[in-house]
This record gives sequence, C-alpha cells and structure tokens, in this order.
Amino acid sequence: MKKHILVIPGDGIGPEVTTWGKAVLEQIGTEYGHKFTFDEALMGHVAIEATGNPLPDETLTKAKACDAILFGAVGHAKYDNDPSAKVRPEQGLLKIRKELGLYANLRPIMLFDELLDASSLKPEVLRGTDILFFRELTGDVYFGEKKRSDDRNTASDLMIYHRYEVERIATKAFEAARSRNKRLCSVDKANVLEASRLWREVVQELAQQYPDVETEHMFIDNAAMQLVKNPKKFDVVLTANLFGDILTDEASQIAGSMGMLASASIGDGTGFFEPIHGSAHDIAGQNKANPLASILSVALMLEISFGLKEEAQRITSAIDQTLKDGYRTGDIADIHTEKSKILGTDAMGQKVLEYLSKSAKN
Ligand code: NAD
Repeated sequence: MKKHILVIPGDGIGPEVTTWGKAVLEQIGTEYGHKFTFDEALMGHVAIEATGNPLPDETLTKAKACDAILFGAVGHAKYDNDPSAKVRPEQGLLKIRKELGLYANLRPIMLFDELLDASSLKPEVLRGTDILFFRELTGDVYFGEKKRSDDRNTASDLMIYHRYEVERIATKAFEAARSRNKRLCSVDKANVLEASRLWREVVQELAQQYPDVETEHMFIDNAAMQLVKNPKKFDVVLTANLFGDILTDEASQIAGSMGMLASASIGDGTGFFEPIHGSAHDIAGQNKANPLASILSVALMLEISFGLKEEAQRITSAIDQTLKDGYRTGDIADIHTEKSKILGTDAMGQKVLEYLSKSAKN
C-alpha cells in the first residue's frame, strides 16, 4: 500500500511525541512492505513565529493533498496568559478542522490492564471499561458568533447547531454502535438549551432507523457523574463539541493519563490523528512526555484511514507488552509499588519499537 502522510508536530511536547508516532509508522511500513512517504508542515505558535499565521497556506495545501495527517499539539503559555491576543495558535487547529470538513472526533477510551492502578478511580470500577466517544467538531460555541459589549463588561458566545451537523455525526455513531455492543448514549442539556433540544430531536428521529441499537439520552451533568461512578455502563457516547471536550478529558483519567489517549478526526476526506493532550508547557523540552498517545493515534490512522487492522493491532499489542514489562513514563508510573521502570519520552518510544520488532520475529 502507498500512502502519503503529513506530519504537523506543532508546539511544546508536540514534536517530542510525534517523532515516535512517525517512527512507528516507518517501522510498520518497512515490515509490511507499505510505502509510507512523509512531509512536514507548521501550525500553531511555531507557525505564527515563522509566518505570522497559525495555519499557513502551505500547510493547508499540503493537508488537502495527503492521505492522512499525524498531528502533535498547539499552544504556548504566552497566549494562555493573554486572552486578548488576536492571533492565537488554536485558531490554526480550528481552521484546519473546518477546512478539511472534520466533523467527528473519535476518542476510544482504551484501558490497558497494567494501568488499572495508574487511574485515580478504583480498579473494580474501571475493569472492563470500553467506551468510544463521538464528539462533534465543527459547530457549537466554538464557531458561533462571539460578542463583547462596547464597555467590555458583557460577553457572549453563540451555541449553534444545524440539523445536518447533528445528523451526519449521529449516523457515524449509530453505525459504530452497531459494530460494537449496540448501545448509544447521546449526551446533551436539552432541559435548558435550545441547541440541545434540536440535537435530541434529530438523534431520536435517527434512532428509529437503528432499532437494534439501544439508545439513551443523558444530560451532561448526569453523564459527567456517571462516567466516574460506573464507566462500564457506556458503549458509544455521542455528544456536541463543548460537552465532548470536557467529558473526554474527564474520561482520560479512566485510562490513567492524558498521555494515553489518542483521537481521530474524520469527515468525508482526509483523516486527522492526534493525541487528546495539549502542548503541556510544564514538561515541554524535558524528555518527560508520554509518547504512547501519539503512537496510539498512528494505530487509529492505520485502522480508520487505511483499513490496516492487523498492523494497528500489532502496535496496540507492542504497547501492552511494554506496559506489562513494567516500563512507564512519569505520568503513568505506578504510585502504589516500586516496580515501575520509569523512562523518558525517547526511551519509551524506543521500547515500543523494540517490542514491535520482537513480535515480528515470533
Ligand atoms: P495539556 O494537555 O497540555 O496538559 C495537561 C496536563 O497533562 C499537564 O500537567 C501536562 O503535563 C499533562 N500531560 C499532557 N500530555 C502529557 C503527556 N503526553 N505525557 C505526560 N503528561 C502529559 O493541557 P493544558 O495544560 O490545559 O494546555 C496546555 C496548552 O495546550 C495550552 O496552550 C492549550 O491551549 C493547549 N492545548 C492544545 C490542544 C491541542 O493542540 N489539541 C489541546 C488541549 C490544550
């Protein structure tokens, strides 16, 4: 198979972790005889510094021409502390999602048994959890009209959804539920918000086409509580942009760390694969970041964009074996025992490559 992949490392720990996602792709390509070619492009703070634009035209052109994108993260402390900055790194991310029509963000909450103790939740609550989140990506308060009064003392963000936006992501979520445990939970705030009432109406209508899928509607406040009380009750969770943003960060603690969760943003064209974490300024440049979320993003790319399930499974198994043998980055170190062998970003990435090679020989 021949595929051209655009790597957008971005800011902070983005380049540190993306290096290892790319290295894993190269190794899989060599082993299975796939011809993966790579290009690189700027986005975020690094792009603002180089061109004044968080998403330079050149990056967008390359993004539209490739088969899949491996992204790191964007963000810089300078902007976090200056909410009035007009040009901001995250504008690049929002724009590329819009330009590529990436309307669905898939976030599997995959739980490695070895990390049951790394979560702040009890192992008996977590064991058996397997959730696939569908977060809507192109609507909601992120893209609605933003206003500030002339005296600067009043502000508003418009929460807006169109029927077609809800329909297209809900269809993908129902299809996924059908191929999994046939349960779908749609999360909204329909008791208060009109945008949520439209959301619920559309999901209810669509549910009639999927009688084999058990559909439930839950308010966001209840869902946030149920997620930590009994995560096993969820199979596919479908939700809007803002609620999904918050809920999936909460869910990251089920997996032990933000550094363990990958995501796929898909639409009708090029897929965009990234860890769910940000640029983590607090650990950037220190060789401390967990590269596993980036490596798991590559597994998602192989499965979702290229249909290479066996190759994706090989990556997940190599990570599983790495964890079973006690190797950990600091964020997932076992706080209850002395048994973790703590590694930096590079040594952890290297370990996964070693386990991939070993499994090829067996
Ligand atoms: P963050 O995800 O960067 O970090 C949150 C916490 O998790 C930090 O303590 C960090 O050290 C830790 N962490 C994150 N990834 C890790 C990894 N791979 N290994 C080990 N520890 C990890 O979120 P934040 O601190 O809220 O935001 C920092 C910057 O990232 C901000 O500028 C924000 O705008 C940006 N951001 C970008 C994205 C994105 O590019 N998709 C997403 C979220 C935040």
